[in-house]
Amino acid sequence: MTQRTLSIIKPDAVERNLQGRILSMIQEKGLKIVALKMLYLTREQARGFYDVHREKPFFDSLTDYMSSGPIVVSVLEGDGAIDRYREIMGATNPESAGQGTIRKAFALDIEKNSVHGSDAPETAYREISFFFSQMELVG
Ligand code: UDP
Ligand code: MG
Repeated sequence: MTQRTLSIIKPDAVERNLQGRILSMIQEKGLKIVALKMLYLTREQARGFYDVHREKPFFDSLTDYMSSGPIVVSVLEGDGAIDRYREIMGATNPESAGQGTIRKAFALDIEKNSVHGSDAPETAYREISFFFSQMELVG
């Protein structure tokens, strides 16, 4: 089933100029980029985006970090795109991420783990709508 998922290249990766390499890894695995932009989240916007994690001990640190520098957000499309992109990213903790994954290659630690990907159809829909209007989605 064709799906769409939201990808974020996080501040740690943008700061190290890794956007192109990460987008290449995504494209090499056959996912299609149907929307793309670079932006800066305010602290409040980052807290809104990660609202599901509001009660977690890492929430303040995570949302400060996510608003500490520019990010690159994109919408990826393909058959089973949500799970496929989670596989391309690798595990949340880079120490557990598999060979060849983005997080294995680039993540600095469990927080500064270079990329975000939606985890289910409902969250993908919410997260895509958070960043993109219908007009910005191509195809
Ligand atoms: N995170 C963290 N400490 C943790 C777990 C997660 O700092 O113990 C951060 C990390 O940046 C992660 C984000 O919070 O990507 C969201 O956590 P989630 O469990 O949803 O992981 P993901 O879906 O990004 O793999
Ligand atoms: Mg998650």
